[in-house]
Amino acid sequence: MSDVIIVGGGAAGMMAGIMLAEKGYNPTIIEKNDRLGRKLFITGKGRCNLTNNCSTEELLKNVVTNSKFLYSAFYGFDAAMTMSFFEELGLKIKTERGGRVFPVSDHSSDVISVMSTKLKRLGVKIMLNTTVIDIKVTEDGDTKRVSGLSYVNEQGKKEHIACENIVIATGGVSYPLTGSTGDGIKWAKEFGLNISEPRPALVPIEIEEGFCKDIMGLALKNIQATFVAKVKNKDKVIYSEFGEMLFTHFGVSGPVILSGSSFVGKYLDSDLRLRIDLKPALTEEQLNERILRDFSQNINKQFRNSLSDLLPKKLIPVIIDISGIDQYKKVNEITKEERLKLVKLLKCMELHVKGLRDLNEAIITQGGVSVKEINPHTMESKSIKGLRFIGEVLDVDALTGGFNLQIAWSTAASIE
Ligand SMILES: Cc1cc2nc3c(=O)[nH]c(=O)nc-3n(C[C@H](O)[C@H](O)[C@H](O)COP(=O)(O)OP(=O)(O)OC[C@H]3O[C@@H](n4cnc5c(N)ncnc54)[C@H](O)[C@@H]3O)c2cc1C
Repeated sequence: MSDVIIVGGGAAGMMAGIMLAEKGYNPTIIEKNDRLGRKLFITGKGRCNLTNNCSTEELLKNVVTNSKFLYSAFYGFDAAMTMSFFEELGLKIKTERGGRVFPVSDHSSDVISVMSTKLKRLGVKIMLNTTVIDIKVTEDGDTKRVSGLSYVNEQGKKEHIACENIVIATGGVSYPLTGSTGDGIKWAKEFGLNISEPRPALVPIEIEEGFCKDIMGLALKNIQATFVAKVKNKDKVIYSEFGEMLFTHFGVSGPVILSGSSFVGKYLDSDLRLRIDLKPALTEEQLNERILRDFSQNINKQFRNSLSDLLPKKLIPVIIDISGIDQYKKVNEITKEERLKLVKLLKCMELHVKGLRDLNEAIITQGGVSVKEINPHTMESKSIKGLRFIGEVLDVDALTGGFNLQIAWSTAASIE
């Protein structure tokens, strides 16, 4: 007979199963899919960036929402402990650029496999193809406590189990095909717990300007992407990062865009724009000199043939179009005003944000069960005894780099 039931066999649920069994409990994991860790399987493009080899301060800095809540969980089970944990399970790991930790094999399936083997060895009961449909909470005077759950089993039959300790590890609502359909958030709402409405984050961004489609596939490296919104009638910088981005048929994607998307959600109706500095290493003056030099070497060329040293080929027609400079104009006929306008454009190519792509494409869900409802040391609900929430179901999220899985591991390891 299980003394604790974990709902959801994703990253957080599997870790909770191992940790609780090692602490002497007798846990059961209930998972609606036919196998454990379906989302884990697709993480890191199938390679699983399982944590970031950095200090706890650095982990906290990479949390976008409610980092304070994670303080105790991260200090209790940090990146070094995560790496040792997986190494002890027999997983060989390596650290790549930016501290990103992966299995040496580059196969996320190996992460799932070592965890599954450990769960089996510890005797954790796993019920696959089983969907929890209801969590029962009973009131005993002023005290509310969890008392059991109902599920639909493999044969499609509805059953009930009594249990006084239930861990909700059902994930968020992004990539719902992996099984993360927001059930835990829905139950929390039904129990009267505060939730922050789920919304997509680490997600590509749709852009008004139609030319993105013409240059889809173009990746820009070493650019500075800055998101700006109108706040109280003034332009306010919401997020700015140096790195790499990509044009797509609907707008933009790539590392700096995905990170930016986690910060801009609440400014979508505030004239949100993306400013791309195509030459962040140069000041306007330096870029002007550079262009003068390029022009002096191409004096008799048409403007459209003078930019190939400065810009990727695909981007040239777009820049020419926005600059308003006649593409057939001879370089030596370009006026100083026109050149300075070009400099400004290369330092600040402005695109208008239409919106974020939806949850089907979001790496992470922002929002979830309010952290004010949860004891940060034990992950237990403050108002419903025996009910715990871990992983992405909580209103916490982080940037890419292994930080979101670290949230799943650390919150799971915190359960008492
Ligand atoms: C494409 C992609 C790539 C990613 N890459 C990375 C990466 O490289 N590094 C990183 O740190 N993070 C990455 N993430 C984020 C990371 O996958 C999540 O943060 C993490 O999986 C959250 O773990 P979780 O256990 O809370 O939820 P999930 O992994 O979503 O697991 C929840 C589980 O609960 C089950 N479930 C839900 N409802 C029920 C129910 N009613 N009954 C029974 N079972 C139920 C689901 O089927 C699912 O298996 C990526 C995400 C995506 C989408």
